[in-house]
Amino acid sequence: MTEQDDDTDSAIDSSTGTDSGSDLIDSAFASEQADDESRDRTDTDSQHGSIGASSLDDIVLDDVEDTDDAGEASRGLFDDLLSGEPIFEKKEVLRPSYTPRKLPHREDQINNMATILVSALRGDTPSNILIYGKTGTGKTASAKFVSEELESTSEKYSVACEVEYINCEVTDTQYRVLAQLANKFIEKNRDHITDRIDELESLRERVREDESSLTETDFESIGDIESTLESLREEREGFEEVPMTGWPTDRVYSTFFEAVDYTERVVVIMLDEIDKLVEKSGDDTLYNLSRMNSELENSKVSIIGISNDLKFTDFLDPRVKSSLGEEEIVFPPYDANQLRDILQARAEVAFEDGSLSDDVIPLCAAFAAQEHGDARRALDLLRTAGELAERDKTDRVEEDHVRQAQEKIELDRVVEVVRTLPTQSKLVLFAIILLEKNGVHNINTGEVYNIYKSLCEEIDADVLTQRRVTDLISELDMLGIVNAVVVSKGRYGRTKEISLSVPIDETEAVLLSDSRLGDIEDVQPFVQARFDQ
Ligand code: ADP
Ligand code: MG
Repeated sequence: MTEQDDDTDSAIDSSTGTDSGSDLIDSAFASEQADDESRDRTDTDSQHGSIGASSLDDIVLDDVEDTDDAGEASRGLFDDLLSGEPIFEKKEVLRPSYTPRKLPHREDQINNMATILVSALRGDTPSNILIYGKTGTGKTASAKFVSEELESTSEKYSVACEVEYINCEVTDTQYRVLAQLANKFIEKNRDHITDRIDELESLRERVREDESSLTETDFESIGDIESTLESLREEREGFEEVPMTGWPTDRVYSTFFEAVDYTERVVVIMLDEIDKLVEKSGDDTLYNLSRMNSELENSKVSIIGISNDLKFTDFLDPRVKSSLGEEEIVFPPYDANQLRDILQARAEVAFEDGSLSDDVIPLCAAFAAQEHGDARRALDLLRTAGELAERDKTDRVEEDHVRQAQEKIELDRVVEVVRTLPTQSKLVLFAIILLEKNGVHNINTGEVYNIYKSLCEEIDADVLTQRRVTDLISELDMLGIVNAVVVSKGRYGRTKEISLSVPIDETEAVLLSDSRLGDIEDVQPFVQARFDQ
């Protein structure tokens, strides 16, 4: 569970506890260790009480006591890091895994979803919904919030309504989506049968004590109950789960279909990052899911698709497109003011009072607003700025920490993008780097191609055509790693002028950490060759 992870995490992050349980231990510890200045800081989610926290506290306490017994000389590696004023009060609130209970500036979208989904609570099939918006616009958070509310309300009114969430970036083929859904419903059906068995077993006990208990039931005798119990047990054992691979797709589909239709209920299937599924595996899954209702006898299925790509329906079969897009909800990017509100609300819980200087939140909001209004980026910036301040051993996050955080996040992103490029793109990028390092400006495609060819020969890689290399350069441009502008050369036609948009040394280091490129020993001759041509 993530809550458990968060506990462990925050103990290491040295956040300060707010929960009354851990506060108690905190103060006890603080007085014992007053001369040491180090304080035990553990943090708990108020919801799950202080049991986990106490045991963590004990571990920390024991460690520090041991150190103390042994005297100052053996102050542990972590003592210095633990001392100093804490900045964070509850850092996990800034992590992506945290689902906030309040989502400012998403009231319209949330109400809109609720208005559509309320039919599920009346036993009707809600319209399918397609949710669009760029990353970090609160789509997942809002959809999860609404589905939790839907499930808890359905429990309150004892309506059979279930939401299944699938992240299609992880579960990215039709087989896996259907298998995951089938297995979830098989599990639910087993639970359902188990509940029924429990009911019948207690009925059987009552009847054993008092025969007249049978009168209000459909059973005529204890034997009757027992044979029903027997067949329920058989049925429970009879469900066959879908294996991770190996079955033909129609068998997976029919297993899923039967599992869903096992009881009367309304099922909302939420497919997050649906564009990734369609990109990777086409729209068969959506086609199959969207035409299920006409064949289901007991249950009803409704689909919520969430997409980061505004144009993804262009790739869909028109029937799928019209069925899936019965209702469309758009999540526009946040502007700087909205991001400020979002950060403010989270910061109040995440940070100690007074540990943020006034410019910090507006600056995080401003940076993230430039980054297409991405709330995830805004939260990352704020958390990273806090961590940098913590590392500086200061008790206040300043504007400069935000600037450093911005650089760090940008660099992390570049490193990750470059690291995961295919080898051919890495070679093209390496060629551009070599040219820049040799002081070449306004690099053109031909120059890149010549160096690229020599690099390929050096490591025995296939040499692509210049046309393909031009495409790879455009891809690097789209990823924000290079900047390629088309310039007209009069009667010589048009060419691209290419320059690097990322820090050169760090990027080169990432490229060279690839074992194939790392084998290229002396690169100077290639670049030299360029001038000889
Ligand atoms: P998306 O799914 O659109 O990419 P998420 O829902 O994952 O975006 O949101 C990204 C991060 O920003 C999450 O940590 C989420 O909690 C937070 N967030 C997004 N919108 C809001 C909001 N309106 N209020 C509070 N937090 C938000
Ligand atoms: Mg999302």
